[in-house]
Amino acid sequence: MEFNELFYLDPYRKESDAVVISCESSGKGYTIVFDDTVFYPEGGGQPADRGVLRLADGTEIRVTDVRSDASDRVLHCTDTPLVPGTKVHQVIDWDFRFSLMQNHSGEHIVSGLIKKNFGYENVGFHMSDVITIDISGELSWEQAMDIERKANAVVWSDIPVNITFPDGESLENTDYRSKKELSGRVRLVGIENTDLCACCGLHVRRTGEIGIIKLLSLINYKGGVRIEMVCGEKALMDYEAKLDSNTEIKNLLSVKPHEVTGAVKHILDESAEKSARIARLNSRYFDLRVNELKEKDGIIIAREDLLDGTELRKLCEKLKASKKASVSVCLLPLPAEEPSFRYVIASTDLDLKSLAPALNKALNGRGGGSKEMIQGSFLSSYDEICEKIREILRS
Ligand SMILES: [Zn+2]
Repeated sequence: MEFNELFYLDPYRKESDAVVISCESSGKGYTIVFDDTVFYPEGGGQPADRGVLRLADGTEIRVTDVRSDASDRVLHCTDTPLVPGTKVHQVIDWDFRFSLMQNHSGEHIVSGLIKKNFGYENVGFHMSDVITIDISGELSWEQAMDIERKANAVVWSDIPVNITFPDGESLENTDYRSKKELSGRVRLVGIENTDLCACCGLHVRRTGEIGIIKLLSLINYKGGVRIEMVCGEKALMDYEAKLDSNTEIKNLLSVKPHEVTGAVKHILDESAEKSARIARLNSRYFDLRVNELKEKDGIIIAREDLLDGTELRKLCEKLKASKKASVSVCLLPLPAEEPSFRYVIASTDLDLKSLAPALNKALNGRGGGSKEMIQGSFLSSYDEICEKIREILRS
């Protein structure tokens, strides 16, 4: 690669006049090559630029993707063809590009500092809404936070990001990151006392433009760690989103911002206590119900309005275990326009699995289970359910 395109000569150039050299149909749309371009093609972990091509009559053609081919030509993908010789005005989405430059440059600082402090390599790099970097060795969150502090010190020292093209002997004697698979001129991106890396991406002029570097998470990954991070405007947006969320939670809990964690822990403790108390009350309630429910022709039917599905099943298990009846039926009304009930049916001696189809058919139901217990729902009235169950299970 020769690095002579406009976007390399001046990464801050937002627009430029250009002439169409070729335009080819490519499946869905067209790929256009210009005499020069401000559009950065996807590469080196950095996504392609977005933007438009403005024609002489003012119409704009959207550039849907930018790629480079094997001979380093930059291909601009569009939905509209352009005749070779056509003059256009290229305009990139500068906010999108600058954010990528901030994030990409910040990633160099973090990767360089990890290499310098721990000797680990950046072995994988991806940029989208957040940057992910895969590091070849393990780091603790505390170590990562130390790197973050050092990285932001580099940002605030506002030092230059230097692009150089050393060759021959001087390149041989230079220690830099990402030495692998390089052909043509080697482009080194250097930040003093921090990082030196071969890279074909676009970067800010000075570290101060990165604004802020924030690491978001760290997980163990393939023998090392994967770090998520954001820089510049994306870091600000992340802060805003988290502040909004924290504010909403603190308002819901009526506490001060720094009291949110304590308040949530308190609610969780309280909730666990309530669950334990409900379980104790249920257990007592089940005993009382087992005592008071009467069997008729070997069948007990219990209509329960206060239980949930799990509790209904527990009551049914208790009824079965009491052996007061051959069949125990527990019904829970469901919130629906037409009368419908969740059912759990248990038996000590009948094969309920083989009886389930007949019950479901008679009562607009669905569900099934084992020989000893079936559960599901009936779309029928309570009286109808009682009548049919007695009819079917008695026969
Ligand atoms: Zn880079």
